[in-house]
Amino acid sequence: MVIRSETQLRQMLESERTRLQVILKHSGSRGNEHTGYGNHMADDATEAFDQAMDFSVRRSLEDTSREIDHALSKLDQGIYGVCESCGIRVDWARLEAKPEARLCIRCQQRSDFGR
Ligand SMILES: [Zn+2]
Repeated sequence: MVIRSETQLRQMLESERTRLQVILKHSGSRGNEHTGYGNHMADDATEAFDQAMDFSVRRSLEDTSREIDHALSKLDQGIYGVCESCGIRVDWARLEAKPEARLCIRCQQRSDFGR
């Protein structure tokens, strides 16, 4: 898919946010159903593993969902696509690949490196 306008970007962000919310809702209810079950050792181990996986996956989905909210609010304010660190326009190609990106590629690399 080639994105040519902010309208398309917004649609993409909104549909991605909806998709994440559905997954998060689903994974939350599934986690609750699991609680208190598991009669066998093997099941318990598998379940613990599943829950650990769920937890980290869930966290990263929640992070992405927050980033998308942030990107949408920037679209509303008309400041979308501007690097939050240095203020230059972020490459369109980068936004196509990662619409929720806050930083231009140079600032992103610097912040990844600094971690
Ligand atoms: Zn920058």
